[in-house]
Amino acid sequence: MPYRNEPPIDWTTAPYKEQLQTALAEVKEQFGKTYPLYIDGKEIATKDALKSVNPANHQEIVGYVSQATREHIDQAIAAASRAFKTWRHTTFEERAMYLMKAAQIMRKRKAELMAWQIYESGKNWAEADGDVCEAIDFLEFYARQAIKLGKGTEVTPYPGEDNRMFYLPLGVGVVIPPWNFPLAILTGTAVAAIVTGNPIVLKPSPLSSVMAVKFVEIMQELHLPAGVLNFVPGPPEEIGDYMVAHKDVRFISFTGSKKTGLHIDETAHKFAEGQRWIKRVVAEMGGKDSIVVDETADTEAAAVAIVASAFGFQGQKCSAGSRAIIHEAVYDDVVNRVIELTKKLEVGAPADNAVVGPVIDEKAFAKVTSYIEIGKQEAKLVVGGTADDSKGYFIQPTVFIDAAPNARIMQEEIFGPVLSICKVGSFEEAIDVFNNTEYGLTGSLFSRERDRLEYARYHMDCGNLYLNRKCTGSLVGIQPFGGFNMSGTDAKAGGPDYLLNFVQPKTVTEQL
Ligand code: NAD
Repeated sequence: MPYRNEPPIDWTTAPYKEQLQTALAEVKEQFGKTYPLYIDGKEIATKDALKSVNPANHQEIVGYVSQATREHIDQAIAAASRAFKTWRHTTFEERAMYLMKAAQIMRKRKAELMAWQIYESGKNWAEADGDVCEAIDFLEFYARQAIKLGKGTEVTPYPGEDNRMFYLPLGVGVVIPPWNFPLAILTGTAVAAIVTGNPIVLKPSPLSSVMAVKFVEIMQELHLPAGVLNFVPGPPEEIGDYMVAHKDVRFISFTGSKKTGLHIDETAHKFAEGQRWIKRVVAEMGGKDSIVVDETADTEAAAVAIVASAFGFQGQKCSAGSRAIIHEAVYDDVVNRVIELTKKLEVGAPADNAVVGPVIDEKAFAKVTSYIEIGKQEAKLVVGGTADDSKGYFIQPTVFIDAAPNARIMQEEIFGPVLSICKVGSFEEAIDVFNNTEYGLTGSLFSRERDRLEYARYHMDCGNLYLNRKCTGSLVGIQPFGGFNMSGTDAKAGGPDYLLNFVQPKTVTEQL
């Protein structure tokens, strides 16, 4: 079967609504369970277990997850190293079959998987559906890409010689995903490494560990050889540097903030005694993404896109359009419409499918509200600005206008429901403002001028540019995803080159 994206479902209609409500009720019944580590094919319960709470109701404990120590990391890396001896010699096709099977299981368990992240991550129904669809897409897409990669690459024929180039796995990988796409990014990064022949040590975010356990449960159903997937949730400050710096680790696949990404990059590239390679680091990091609107744009479409990009999943996407840069000729029109649309956004519990849910935790609540205070000093607050953490970590969608290009709210990643809008006098100035951050992940341009759309293709510095549409919601296989500059290594998850990050090419020449 050719690759196709998993179709999203309208869960608000029958019979899906009932299915999801049943799943939400069944998942709630399982709250408070404790989950083990998984090393060398064995489950290990630890004395310490971290609680994972519902951000919409912080008294509700979704589950407890065992916490790995440095000894567990040693065990996991040793198990992965042993597994590499045989896993590396399986074929790309064999490994791809595991992924296709996992996709089938996820498809069957979709409502349940959505329910876990609705509770643990605060996603509304459509966002949770999008996340599970993306996880399935990664499995289906990377399986097919692996089969292609297994065929090697054509080289130029040369008389008297047989020349071939093919791809070998790297070795033991450490995979460190973030919490905000709790199943999708975790699945994509884990299986891309596994399907290319690399055993992994997977350390999930403490904020989405229960979702990570569900992924591991699915992978256990596949009966992968022991040691291919090792699951070691644990405190990053205790085990993070230890695993990244370990001499037997060959590569690190990280997705998360700029600060952590840079730290991991530095730690990984310090030579450890006994290490036999230069570690490879794939680091996909943050963003400060903008939507540019020129004076020829469809202002209604632009306003709708600005609001969707800024406030989808409470602005907690690396691709979130947290800035809008608008030409003065249409500024008032677009701003007024953005204000109207933002005021309509209902804030509430994700389980009830409110459009805007909570931010992930107490720390995020404190960070985002502190940026709202900064914004009040730097720009004009026109919507929102209030917050309430008495039950869950709820922040009203907030809009600042007349922000200066260099204001902190225009430069720093807030990662919450805060939009900063800046007025510009020309298209050229808009592009300058667009390019004035250290990041370069996503962006949009709304314009009806063909010349400007063409100019934007090459002059708006970001890994994922959208013309006349919102800047969030990339699809696996269709919009390979990753960013420039401080947004990371631009590995292009969900793209045809992504698996090359986890292999090393070898050329063999035989004299005929
Ligand atoms: P984070 O940097 O706080 O954490 C990411 C992961 O790193 C987590 O698993 C965390 O436990 C782990 N970690 C923290 N310190 C570590 C250490 N010293 N050693 C090893 N691991 C360590 O980021 P987050 O809050 O989980 O995620 C949000 C960030 O991720 C935002 O900046 C967002 O823009 C970014 N993000 C980027 C992409 C992308 O594709 N570019 C996608 C999603 C999220």
